[in-house]
Amino acid sequence: MCDSCKGINTWRKFDTPDDYMNCIAYISQLTADDGDFELVKEESTCPLDKVKTENGWADEIMIHTIRCRNCGQVFTCVVNTWRGSGHFGKGRSR
Ligand SMILES: [Zn+2]
Repeated sequence: MCDSCKGINTWRKFDTPDDYMNCIAYISQLTADDGDFELVKEESTCPLDKVKTENGWADEIMIHTIRCRNCGQVFTCVVNTWRGSGHFGKGRSR
């Protein structure tokens, strides 16, 4: 892991839907054009700005994977909106 990865915030679990939305906002920041990370589109269920629509969640289970542009370390955000569980952390989804 490089310096940009060491400084990353992770969520052991999401306590509320807002908590999850905060994490998605954080990931959007990290993967902005000049950010240290890129979104791995082929391993993500939908665009970051589409997780919530006027009709509710885009999907019951949503996964977003990001990769460090410096060292290639992967972090994954997983949520199950039906069970109300999820987390954001190092590595791929389990
Ligand atoms: Zn890194």
